[in-house]
Amino acid sequence: MLPQRITILGATGTIGRNTLDVIARHPGRFRVVALTANTQTERLFHQCRQFHPDYAVMLNPDSAEQLRRLLEEAGEAIDVLSGIAALEMVAALDEVDSVMAAIVGSAGLRPALAAARAGKKILLANKETLVVSGNLFMDAVRHHGATLLPIDSEHNAIFQALPADISGGLAAVGVTRILLTASGGPFRKTPLAALAQVTPQQALAHPNWVMGPKISIDSASMMNKGLEIIEAHWLFGAKAEQIQVVVHPQSVVHSLVEYVDGSVIAQLGNPDMRTPIAHALGFPQRIESGVGLLDLFKIGHLDFEPPDFSRFPCLALAYEALREGGTAPAILNAANEVAVSAFLDGQLSFQGIPAMIALALEKVASRPVSQLDDVMMADRQARVAVQTSLGIDVVPAA
Ligand code: NAD
Ligand code: MG
Repeated sequence: MLPQRITILGATGTIGRNTLDVIARHPGRFRVVALTANTQTERLFHQCRQFHPDYAVMLNPDSAEQLRRLLEEAGEAIDVLSGIAALEMVAALDEVDSVMAAIVGSAGLRPALAAARAGKKILLANKETLVVSGNLFMDAVRHHGATLLPIDSEHNAIFQALPADISGGLAAVGVTRILLTASGGPFRKTPLAALAQVTPQQALAHPNWVMGPKISIDSASMMNKGLEIIEAHWLFGAKAEQIQVVVHPQSVVHSLVEYVDGSVIAQLGNPDMRTPIAHALGFPQRIESGVGLLDLFKIGHLDFEPPDFSRFPCLALAYEALREGGTAPAILNAANEVAVSAFLDGQLSFQGIPAMIALALEKVASRPVSQLDDVMMADRQARVAVQTSLGIDVVPAA
């Protein structure tokens, strides 16, 4: 069997590292062609030494220069590139079969789109791509014959619980609802009055998953689930009213699909991203992931409860943006990215996050999306709206 040749976008992040962990368990099965990162030179350097890619790309030119020097000194012949065009280039290389899209935020959009346009097998972790430009991205996937495999644990679970062919729509295969599970994050039971004082450190401490900082804050505010509702809409053609969020604090049932005959099919497993990653890397075969097998006797029982919309306003904002359509989800996402980074920098309270998103949705008008510029402009306007309101410097747009 020829090795699967792969580019990993966002190799130094949580998903990127877990992907390399699974790959390292299968010598000869995969060949890493390109690894990319933003600024984490040291980490990318060590990954290059272990996996010997042909290309290493850093968004930041100074970091790329530093990496080039380190690799030269180590005698590694690796092409080091920088900038967004290089990220797009390694996502679309002829000699690449699969692309792991694991950049965080709407910065991941352009390289993921380049992979879709090149007809690659895309392992999509970067949910923001679908939130920001769902119709453009799905059109590119269909038009260029790309294969899309969801990495987000919930969507990977739904993918596993659905029939292989859903091109005729969910109703045609008897699906009534998608039941999207959510842990509820660290503040599920925090007294409401105490939410105003929570610190970034408390919000970063997720009870079940180890993740990058942005998605950890999104999980605490439940915006992560909001983004995932929109992600499920685009991946599976589910309408907003067909997507039910189910709070399940143990994070063992990763999501469920409800059928018209009363059947509900779920996927279960220990909360470890290497399971969905291995599923997508090996697809359609199953490969070992390094994740321990589920011990149901040890777990004993599983709990489910309805989401609390008053505690987590981000959920309602996401449903609202999905129903509004056009650029509304891009506005929601960009406002959230700025608000999360302001919260992490101590410039905004935890409850200021949904307030800033609501402000952006109100100030920036949603427009139809026919090209990438439409979403990029909405992204920009939403960032400016939030930054102006906070009186902080404008973060460069993706
Ligand atoms: P992370 O912060 O740990 O890693 C992000 C990666 O993207 C790093 O390699 C970083 O160098 C790179 N990056 C950051 N900004 C960039 C930019 N502007 N341009 C190019 N590269 C950039 O994030 P993560 O937790 O691995 O999440 C990655 C994506 O996967 C996110 O979209 C997240 O929502 C999604 N996801 C993550 C998990 C998880 O368990 N971590 C689960 C489901 C989905
Ligand atoms: Mg998820």
